[in-house]
Amino acid sequence: LNVIGATEPTVAQAIRQELADQRTSLKLIASENYASLATLLSMGNWFSDKYAEGTIGHRFYAGCQNVDTVEAEAARNAEELFGADHAYVQPHSGIDANLVAYWTILTHRVETPDLEAKGVRSVNDLSEDDWETLRHQFGDQRMMGMSLDAGGHLTHGFRPNISGRMFHQHSYGTDPTTGLIDYDVMRAQVREFKPLILVGGYSAYPRRVNFAKMREIADEVGATLMVDMAHFAGLVAGKLFTGDEDPVAHAQVVTTTTHKSLRGPRGGMVLVEHEFADDVDRGCPMVLGGPLANMMAAKAVALAEAKQPSFREYARNVAGNAKTLAEGLMKRGATLVTGGTDNHIVLLDVGSNFGLTGRQAESALIEAGIVTNRNSIPADPNGSWYTSGIRLGTPALTSRGFGTDEFDRVASLICEVLSGTSVATTAKGTPSKAKYTITDGLAARVHAETEEL
Ligand code: PLP
Repeated sequence: LNVIGATEPTVAQAIRQELADQRTSLKLIASENYASLATLLSMGNWFSDKYAEGTIGHRFYAGCQNVDTVEAEAARNAEELFGADHAYVQPHSGIDANLVAYWTILTHRVETPDLEAKGVRSVNDLSEDDWETLRHQFGDQRMMGMSLDAGGHLTHGFRPNISGRMFHQHSYGTDPTTGLIDYDVMRAQVREFKPLILVGGYSAYPRRVNFAKMREIADEVGATLMVDMAHFAGLVAGKLFTGDEDPVAHAQVVTTTTHKSLRGPRGGMVLVEHEFADDVDRGCPMVLGGPLANMMAAKAVALAEAKQPSFREYARNVAGNAKTLAEGLMKRGATLVTGGTDNHIVLLDVGSNFGLTGRQAESALIEAGIVTNRNSIPADPNGSWYTSGIRLGTPALTSRGFGTDEFDRVASLICEVLSGTSVATTAKGTPSKAKYTITDGLAARVHAETEEL
């Protein structure tokens, strides 16, 4: 930090402050974690200076022998850890991984004319018919993923997202009474819509998913099952999600981030069955810019950590702590979407019991040192900006060693803060969706306790 500070003191100070903030608040953002020192140090080194378009042993630049070593090691670790046929470890983020996966499936599955055989040497030689066929390869295909308000991710076909524009898109949701995925409804929708790609996985669904059943449903219409396990990759790596719940055993294509429950560096990966291997390896430069060798080195390190027996215990604790948190909230009167959790996520409905919007709850909690994010709940009356929910996740605090006692205390502090928060009125005298008031001294007192924890 002294070296950084000598050049850019503002940045050095912001880094110091970030560490201090992370140490003195409770990180309950479900997609965040604490990477190990070995992982962090693998990110900041000379690999960052190297260009290496292409893939292992097949580069568009000279001098990539050391990049080959770390990329191969990361891929091997991922394949071993998840039991995958083939791992592509270059994606810079989860969204990039999903784009590579969509491109891979489209390229592999949708036939295009053999333009070389037709003597086409440049785009200027393409006939109108060829253009039409090529357009069909991308713009005309169908995909189906989980809707955003049921807990899906933007890249699972949300209309304004590029995934919603690349495909004709339809989504499945959750049952309005139970909040759970209804596989019979999904099957009926898939039979009717006949997608090329069925996407499983979520960002805010607090339950496990039966991927064996999803594969059965996809197979009925010849769809490729793609699972985005970004959120729960750590629980798959830790062998908590096995059998029907193991996405790698059932989906042809699996994408993930490496920085959430997997506790690695920021980045993404795509795991595929053999038949997609050659296509996915062309992700760079067809979809992605040059790979970040420093990040691939850090992925290799974090994946090696996840192969240790202690990571299985970590995964069990993440889920066990989520149950403790959920029960702690419910016994104090809170309402949870689906009535509980069996993964790492707890989705708290702050409208029903506390009369707040997600925005108000998020702001009040952070004043008290509890870092969460507001989140839509199914059929949210407050829309996707203000929302009626708060999403809580246990991966980060579990990494800090929190167990049952600490998570019960966290549940108690959350309820205390939300019960002491009320809706303020706007200048027109109507209830505000953003402004709130909080009992005098409450935020400071809870903040002091979060620092102690
Ligand atoms: N997929 C899922 C399920 C996610 O929850 C997220 C991020 O929150 C992403 C993809 C995108 O990851 P990234 O932010 O690394 O692009």
